[in-house]
Amino acid sequence: MPHLIQRTELKTFYYTPIHCPFCGTRVMGADPHDETRITACPHTLFIAHDTAFEYRSERLDRNLALDGMTEEEVEAKWLADTRGIDGFTDTVSLPDAIKVAAYAPNPSAYGSYYGFAPNE
Ligand SMILES: [Zn+2]
Repeated sequence: MPHLIQRTELKTFYYTPIHCPFCGTRVMGADPHDETRITACPHTLFIAHDTAFEYRSERLDRNLALDGMTEEEVEAKWLADTRGIDGFTDTVSLPDAIKVAAYAPNPSAYGSYYGFAPNE
């Protein structure tokens, strides 16, 4: 498949703060007063965990045909993927897009997913 997003997995150092590979913006936990705050840069396609998207860019919505959908419709779409949001975000196809999947170890097996792509 052309331009399918490239995956990188963090399993040991899953808690490492994620920075955009294209501009260096720290996208999660940059605010010491609120570590859950998201700082999306122009390259950020999505930020998600196993139960929800935290951030979706317009490019992501266009690429995955989520334009104009309600949050419920979007959720139904990724729930339909056997691998959930992880599998669904693997279907992004933009040139040189990179996904970082950070998996907390068992028994929590909790995943966080970050997608980036260069801008034209
Ligand atoms: Zn960036």
